[in-house]
Amino acid sequence: MRIGVLALQGGFAEHVSHLRKAAAALGVSDAEVVEVRTSEELHCCDSLVIPGGESTCMAHICTTNDLLRHLREFCDEKPVWGTCAGMIFLAKSIQGGKKGGQLLIGNMDITVNRNFFGNQVHSFETSMQTPSTHFAEVDAKVGGGESFRAVFIRAPAIIMDGEPADGVEYLSVLRLDQAAQMGEGRTVSEVAVAAKQGNILVTAFHPELTSDIRWHALFVQIARDHCVAGKGKGEAKQKA
Ligand code: GLN
Repeated sequence: MRIGVLALQGGFAEHVSHLRKAAAALGVSDAEVVEVRTSEELHCCDSLVIPGGESTCMAHICTTNDLLRHLREFCDEKPVWGTCAGMIFLAKSIQGGKKGGQLLIGNMDITVNRNFFGNQVHSFETSMQTPSTHFAEVDAKVGGGESFRAVFIRAPAIIMDGEPADGVEYLSVLRLDQAAQMGEGRTVSEVAVAAKQGNILVTAFHPELTSDIRWHALFVQIARDHCVAGKGKGEAKQKA
């Protein structure tokens, strides 16, 4: 099983090292973690992590390298986890970007405010509850308690406008000390900072910058389950 980390820009090295540790902790011995820069490398992977960094810059490199359409195809079929800029890049719609917008992979049905928490000087850390149902296997094998340290750097947030779109599940919701003023006179008092839709996972925070490997373990588990299910389908096809 090969887990790719998009390595065009941003904090990919930390993800590579955390994914290796997480795979070892879960006992997934056949997991290979590789850096991805081209469509050929991408198509050799069974799952992909898109790191934090600068989403406009990442989009620009992907367009120049003709990677965007390959990423869209990949996200239709395989597990993908986007952190921070990666989350922005995966969203279907964006608030707070330049007029005319930026190019997006766009496969996840969420609206993300790009710099919701402000710029670099407004970066912060906070303690949050782990999504316990999703962490059941991770907790059993890796341990670590009911909370995790969430690091937000020029962080985006998912705007929770009414009910989530079909299949979207909010895994972590952050209540704001002060209601934030949005455009058009709207205010919000909470935002989602981790979510899942089908095989796509997104987090606005950076687990790769803490010593906690549990979010990476969750993704390795999702990637492994997807591979096992795929193998099962393949074998059933062969028998038929
Ligand atoms: N807000 C940044 C962007 O627009 C993302 C910041 C990050 O990944 N740490 O891309």
